[in-house]
This record gives sequence, C-alpha cells and structure tokens, in this order.
Amino acid sequence: MQIVDQFLRKINYLRVSVTDRCDLRCVYCMKEKMNFLPKNEILSLEEIERLCDNFIELGVEKIRLTGGEPLVRKDVINLIKNLNYKKSNTKLKEITLTTNGSLLKKFARELKNNGINRINVSLDTIIEEKYKEITRFGNLNNVLDGIEEAKKNDIKVKINTVVFKNFNEEHISDLVSWANKNLLDITFIEVMPMSDTDIPRHMQFVSLDSTYKKLDMIYHFEKTNYRTGGPSNYYTSRNLDIKIGFITPLSNNFCASCNRIRISSTGKLYMCLGQNDFVDFREILRTDRGDNYIKEKIRFALSIKPRRHDFIINSGIKPYLNRHMNETGG
Ligand code: SAM
Ligand code: SF4
Repeated sequence: MQIVDQFLRKINYLRVSVTDRCDLRCVYCMKEKMNFLPKNEILSLEEIERLCDNFIELGVEKIRLTGGEPLVRKDVINLIKNLNYKKSNTKLKEITLTTNGSLLKKFARELKNNGINRINVSLDTIIEEKYKEITRFGNLNNVLDGIEEAKKNDIKVKINTVVFKNFNEEHISDLVSWANKNLLDITFIEVMPMSDTDIPRHMQFVSLDSTYKKLDMIYHFEKTNYRTGGPSNYYTSRNLDIKIGFITPLSNNFCASCNRIRISSTGKLYMCLGQNDFVDFREILRTDRGDNYIKEKIRFALSIKPRRHDFIINSGIKPYLNRHMNETGG
C-alpha cells in the first residue's frame, strides 16, 4: 500500500519530533525563555511507535527522529531499537536522526548498534564564540567531538547550516573548507518564518542566492541528481570531495515534490511544515481507538495536505505560523 496526497504526491517520509525540549536555544529556533510542555502532553515512546507502525503499513519507508533535541529524550534509544527491528519485517528502509550533536559523543555507538547509519548534525559556525552566540550557550567542542565519534562508528554525518543574516554569511567558505577536510557533506538552509523568536525574522533571513553565487565563484559547481529523500538540491565540484546542498523554501519553492509529513511531540500530524493545519492523534491514541481508525485519520489528513507553504518574510509582516521549529522538528 502506498499513500498519496490530494495532489498525488507519494508520501513515504515521516519526521517525528520526540520532544520539544532542547539543551540549546538557537536564536532562530527558540526564544531565550521558552515554556516547554508538561510531560503528560508529550507522546510516550509506545504511542510514537504505534503511530509509526500505522504509517509504515501505509507506505512510509523512511523515518527521521528530530525535536527539540532527540538525544535529550530519555530512552530514545529504545524507540530506535524497536524501529530498527521493523526494517527486517516491514517496508521501513531507513531511520535517521537530526541532532545538534551536543550529546553525540555519548550516543554515537548506541545509535550505530541500533541501525542508524546516517545522521544530520546542525552546525552554523565553527568559530567557538560565534557558536555560543547563535546557540545562546552551546559548546562547539562537544559537537566536534560528537562528529568524530560518529565517524569512528561509521555513521555518515551531513552538516546542516542555517545561513543567518550578518552572522555566518562571511564565513561560509571557511565552513565548506572545514567540511571538505573532514569529508562531511553540508547543506545550507534558509531561515523559515516559524513562530516569533526574539529577533524579527526579516533581520535573520538572507536568501541563499548570494551564498550559492559566492561559493560557485570559488568552486564552479556542477549540479547533481543526488537526493537524500529531503528537499535539498546538491552540487559537486572538481575542487571538492563533498556534496553541497541548498534548501531554499523561500527563494526557490520545492513543494511540488514534497514527500514528507511530520508528527509533533504532542501527536499532531502536520501535513506541511509551513502551514498551521494539523490532525491530532494524541486523543485517538489515548482513547483506545483501533488501528483502522488511525489509518482512516491518516488518509483524511493526506486528503487535505496543502499544495504548498506560504512562507513570507517581510519587515511589516508577522509570521503566520503559531509554533516554533522545536515542536515539529526541521
Ligand atoms: N535539535 C536538533 C537540531 O538542531 O538538529 C533537531 C531539531 S532542529 C528544530 C532541526 C533543524 O531545524 C536544525 O537544523 C535547525 O537548524 C533548523 N531550524 C530551526 N529553526 C529554524 C528556522 N526558523 N528556519 C530554518 N531552520 C530552522
Ligand atoms: Fe535546539 Fe535544534 Fe532548535 Fe537549536 S535548532 S534550539 S538545537 S531544537
């Protein structure tokens, strides 16, 4: 069985936010003072697994765990272990993770032992003071040690970098040189207008057009057809041993090929990262409805998956999204 949405897009990729909590406070993601949800509002690991089972039966082949920071969720390894078993007897092909890397040194081996072969690590700068500034109090060395440990355990690491106006634009080529030296593919991402953080979005956003042009002058990119299941367009260069990706929700919309849906940490299914519509599964899970009912609701959700987001960043316009990125994950 393969679910499709109302525009006949094949939906085979589920992103699951396992917690809204995080050990960092990146300035484009969260406010400095965040109110996190009470634990009983967050899905239990068993509830998450049951939802995943239903999605897998409907054709989901890839699951990405995200957050908040997935590695701060207690016992997340047990969830990964249980999902990993399903790769041998269901259509599930891959489990991946997006992490800030701060706890990666501790978890890399267990991740590998439980079938995680590929992760994304979010890293916006390799300058220590700047890392502290963008994450509000993070320690760059923890992330670098985590990446090393992941590599040692044969986990392929891709770096995700949000390009933030007047913050890291000037240092992007240094980041690429560092990634190339360490053989890490790297993807640049435009700031998206999720709910307000402490800095207005128009003071954060910069189109990746200029980043692309600057890098292209240095590296003379060649476009590739390489895909990882996500929205990134990848480029190679004769002068690089890695691939460079660009995720451009604002400057170059990619919704026509969207294959993704997202479950928030509280069990809301968001059919589009850039819209407010959701179908809530928490009460369904907690009122003992059967799996057929869950599947029916999933099909309904896909029948109303929006065509595209309406992201707009402009000094006079407040973001229309009423949630921060940590609720649904990237
Ligand atoms: N804590 C993990 C991490 O940072 O990788 C996973 C969750 S985080 C919300 C997922 C991704 O979303 C990260 O790469 C982060 O940089 C990105 N992100 C957060 N807020 C964003 C925003 N407003 N616009 C674009 N990307 C954002
Ligand atoms: Fe935490 Fe990731 Fe958001 Fe940064 S981007 S505050 S690491 S959830």
